[in-house]
Amino acid sequence: AAAPPALDEYDNIKVAVRVRPPNAQELARGDAQALFVNPVDHRQVQLVMPPGYSRSGTSAARNFTFHACLSPASRQQDVLRLCGITQLLDAALDGYNATILAYGQTGSGKTFTMSAGRSQRRRYSLRVSFAEIYNEQIYDLIRFDRRQLAVRWDTAKGFHVPELLCKDCSSLEETLQVLSMAVRHRRVGSHEMNMESSRSHSIFTVYIDATPTRPDDHEYGMTRYGKVSFVDLAGSERLRDSKSVGETLRETTNINRSLFMLGKVIAALADGAQASGARVPYRESKLTKLLQDSLGGSSLSLLIACCSPSAAHIEETLSTLSYASRAK
Ligand code: ADP
Ligand code: MG
Repeated sequence: AAAPPALDEYDNIKVAVRVRPPNAQELARGDAQALFVNPVDHRQVQLVMPPGYSRSGTSAARNFTFHACLSPASRQQDVLRLCGITQLLDAALDGYNATILAYGQTGSGKTFTMSAGRSQRRRYSLRVSFAEIYNEQIYDLIRFDRRQLAVRWDTAKGFHVPELLCKDCSSLEETLQVLSMAVRHRRVGSHEMNMESSRSHSIFTVYIDATPTRPDDHEYGMTRYGKVSFVDLAGSERLRDSKSVGETLRETTNINRSLFMLGKVIAALADGAQASGARVPYRESKLTKLLQDSLGGSSLSLLIACCSPSAAHIEETLSTLSYASRAK
């Protein structure tokens, strides 16, 4: 396969914020809005602290800057354009690994936002896989046989899951069918295993073999392998007032730990760890192992931090924005 060309105009890791519209509960309570996208500079959001809010020190408002910030009025096609998702998918056709991750507390719009990217029409999707990581165990959402799958490592493939089904899809329609079936599996599975789907990570991967079809293309006949991964992360809400015990506590600890390690990996990559040869801690969780070749190397990533606009969620929103800031 040909090495993908350098893409100067694209940072390897982009971070965006999306503020969803207030939901019915927030409207019914009459929650004040606490998170605002700067109407002049769409790269800025402002989190307005309620009176007496002390955790972050003295200022009543905090500004954060990202590559793009999407207001509650944003539509799905705005996400594709402003977050550069269209560009990411094009890069995958050129042989890059492109990865889109949705981070945020449960109910903040992660799954909704991922569906904007996934439904983009493309001609080349050939094989798909769909893995779920729940409690540091890996499951196959397409096969859906509840078997726990092992991660292996070798020099050619890096970390991979040999038994994860890679399903051939002959058309976009078939890809979308497989996707919606797997999304249903995730819901049914979480119900039967008595867990919230928001407590698992899911990784939907589209593998692309793109062969240039025009004889005037100078790389005519050379196949490039790219892939696009859509990562719907577990809810980032913290374990509070430690009421959770037993299994729930273990789940929460695993979620916090894997999101923490993911943050470390992304921050290390954003700091240029690859160029400097610094260690990137992929091995520390199943999530970061499975995402190794989707985040490192010549891959392009977009982290979308999803937020509620409501003052009632200010703690979680601040924690989400801080996490996203570290990833820049
Ligand atoms: P999460 O996956 O983070 O738990 P969801 O994506 O399921 O959250 O979103 C929670 C609810 O809010 C869903 O009913 C979803 O349709 C709605 N929602 C989320 N983001 C938006 C948005 N930007 N515009 C309209 N509705 C949204
Ligand atoms: Mg969700």
